[in-house]
Amino acid sequence: MIRINDHYLKLRSSYLFADIAKRVSAFTESHPDKKIIKLGIGDVTRPLPPACIEAFHRAVDEMGQESTFRGYGPEQGYSFLREKIAAEDFVSRGAEISPDEIFISDGAKCDTGNIQEIFATDIRVAVPDPVYPVYVDTNVMAGRTGRFEDGRYQGLVYLKSVKENGFIPDFPKEPVDLIYLCFPNNPTGATISKADLSKWVDYAKENRAILLFDAAYESFIRDDSLPRSIYEIPGAESVAIEFRSFSKTAGFTGIRCAYTVVPKACMAYDANGEKRSVHALWNRRHATKFNGVSYPVQRAAEAAYSPEGKKQIRELTDGYLKNAALIRQEMAALGFDCVGGENSPYIWIDGKRDAWEFFDLLLDEAGVVCTPGTGFGKCGEGYIRLSAFNSYENVSQAIGRIKAALA
Ligand code: PLP
Repeated sequence: MIRINDHYLKLRSSYLFADIAKRVSAFTESHPDKKIIKLGIGDVTRPLPPACIEAFHRAVDEMGQESTFRGYGPEQGYSFLREKIAAEDFVSRGAEISPDEIFISDGAKCDTGNIQEIFATDIRVAVPDPVYPVYVDTNVMAGRTGRFEDGRYQGLVYLKSVKENGFIPDFPKEPVDLIYLCFPNNPTGATISKADLSKWVDYAKENRAILLFDAAYESFIRDDSLPRSIYEIPGAESVAIEFRSFSKTAGFTGIRCAYTVVPKACMAYDANGEKRSVHALWNRRHATKFNGVSYPVQRAAEAAYSPEGKKQIRELTDGYLKNAALIRQEMAALGFDCVGGENSPYIWIDGKRDAWEFFDLLLDEAGVVCTPGTGFGKCGEGYIRLSAFNSYENVSQAIGRIKAALA
């Protein structure tokens, strides 16, 4: 008899997005003339930078010529892209990461979801609360948790990230082996200082743990004192894996290109307590289960590092940051406590009421869609997330309507 993976039955269905869609469509039906402005989604809205598009086109043409055609590429990614990434994203900031420590992939979602499978099923896992749900659900699927009860999975260690600790997760009260961190954070938009990140590196070293550092929103950092990579912290290469993506940087959400850094110094332990190379394990996993990102996409990603590409990407992210600043400033002026919106495209707002009640108020009275904080964990109760991914015109209009609705 064929059996299913019973752990999948523990997964909470994604009521959040279904619920949002249901409420939005009910509103549209009852207000057919009212334009809805969506500030709920975490997807980019502006087109790809021209430098990336040109490189993409050129590479597609190469695939049509016998002399330049390419079949399967290296699973880990082409060296032209891995070398650019190492030099531009790490070495230039004093982090000694080499090209062969970089694994090109089709998304930080897949990588942050898949990485857990190279670790034992009985390790203790810690996640921040609120959290990007992929970290949690993939550990549920792998059987590392008990049932979902009272807003949390049994067996997972939740690290509160709340106003009282500046939205930097508290250290676990019990020892843990694998810790997910995300900065700039989704959903809170909070950032972490080098001093605070160093404490996490020290924790991992003392506890022989590994940090999974999701830096998908790194390109929104403007404050130069903030770390863009965990490898700016001395010694992090022995205890941290970092995830990056071209999705939010260069508008690649529909093109798909990302990368994961697994330093050769990063070690975990086998059942006998012997040190094992995490790089070797991830290399094995990646080469077995993944067959590389397409050549034109990698050429398009490479173009993000050209002088024109860098300038265009800066303009893209500057545009979203201008929206974020407006949202934060105006919501704060309305008396709401906000975090994020600086060095981040997300603004996490204390609505001072039930998250769904605030969602309904913004939808019904302003025609604006947000994301209720409860979708990201128990600590999201009372909060909503507004996203800066929209045009400046739409964001200004949304803010005008919110002000009128709350007046
Ligand atoms: N990590 C975080 C924190 C995200 O918010 C997202 C997307 O919203 C991702 C990873 C996924 O990125 P990608 O598009 O590269 O899969």
